[in-house]
Amino acid sequence: MWGGVQPDLPMIHDSEKKKSMCSVMEVCHLGTGRWEQKPTTGNPPMIGVTGYAAAAIGNVIFYFGGYCNHDSCYHNILCSFNVDTFNWKELSPSTSRHGPMMKSHCDMIAIKVSGEDYLVVIGGYGPSFLYNTPKHPGAQYSGEGLVFNRQRCNEINYYKLSTGQWILLTVTGDRPPPMDEFTLTSINNSSAILFGGDTTDGLSNNVYILNFTDTSVNCLKLSNPGGSVQWPKGRRAHSSVLITTSSGPHLLVVGGVGAYDCVIFDISNKSWKQLFNIPDIVTNRREHSLSVWSVTPTTNWIIVFGGMRDYLTISDIAVIELRYTSDNDWSTSVIPLDQYQEKLQERRREWEASQPVQPENRREIDRLRRVLQERERELQEERREKEQVRNRLQQQLQGIEQQLQQAQQQGQERERQAREREQDLQRQLKEYQERERQLKRQIEGGQQ
Ligand SMILES: [Zn+2]
Repeated sequence: MWGGVQPDLPMIHDSEKKKSMCSVMEVCHLGTGRWEQKPTTGNPPMIGVTGYAAAAIGNVIFYFGGYCNHDSCYHNILCSFNVDTFNWKELSPSTSRHGPMMKSHCDMIAIKVSGEDYLVVIGGYGPSFLYNTPKHPGAQYSGEGLVFNRQRCNEINYYKLSTGQWILLTVTGDRPPPMDEFTLTSINNSSAILFGGDTTDGLSNNVYILNFTDTSVNCLKLSNPGGSVQWPKGRRAHSSVLITTSSGPHLLVVGGVGAYDCVIFDISNKSWKQLFNIPDIVTNRREHSLSVWSVTPTTNWIIVFGGMRDYLTISDIAVIELRYTSDNDWSTSVIPLDQYQEKLQERRREWEASQPVQPENRREIDRLRRVLQERERELQEERREKEQVRNRLQQQLQGIEQQLQQAQQQGQERERQAREREQDLQRQLKEYQERERQLKRQIEGGQQ
């Protein structure tokens, strides 16, 4: 996790403090539930530090656009971050000359069509044309209800990774209106689901299913049919993740402005369900991050971090468990952070126990487990022996160092004695010379 609104983030284009705050990546280790701050190399996109959009392909995370945290400074920069090397790279610079609108609160996903990787950027909010890129043909822009010199758009752009180019595409079907603060979530390589957002007509509760080809996108709008059908309230600044079960893909939506709840959309059946027993600390959030971790094929852990509550940025984490039950329903519970590892091991054991295992496989598993334990004991023994050798060597080294020091001191002492002896001899020599001169003078006196 990177960047975002932080209480002491400098409200300035560039500064040493901003650079140092933007140069760390927050890493949550799923196995332990612990967070770690790790330094990065290269240039992080600190000009788009808040309200950016992000998407991942393999071990690379892409960051697009964002707000610079001062004045009217919005961007359309595209950067990549490699999670193996922790290095940043700029792929496309921020410019008002071409490309997608300079904006924040748009969204981005990665797709793969005809064997090519693309990033798709949709919608967003930013400065009006006076300070922005030229209009895209077919797209709409609206500043209605917004502060002076701001606009929302419904641009849809591709970025083709193999050529490094922004591409305009043909949009067919029900194109979403200009909007921001919605969520765009991949369903598979070539389709995605868009939900919620802020529009000229207020908060949206419409769903759009998008199908991509290499030159076009087709949009299908699903609205509340009314009557007794369950359909969620409109919202913005919520978060969404895809959850896949044996009955197909689902979209989980948590929190946001306009609705503090937790709802799930069955994408195949096009039906919504509200999830209950989710505490306020999870649902009463906006602009938070949301990740899903499949602990077992039927158990997903949803990790909620940060965001805002009552106009304050918050930094607390919550983990909720979502279990898909055999009767096509969901059970939910909260994973207390102090019991995180215990619960994790419990779920894995439960799942392992529920797996049908043949007796001969069970015997083989037991044998391998014993082999593993034996090997671990051997390794520990080896480690202990190495430790002993190291200690012995260290002691020897210390002894040699002491001897060396003593020898050095003795040498210095002998040198000092020799110098004293030399000074003595010189003094004696002077005395003899003086004595010689006196004798000479006496002899010369005697002769006269
Ligand atoms: Zn700036």
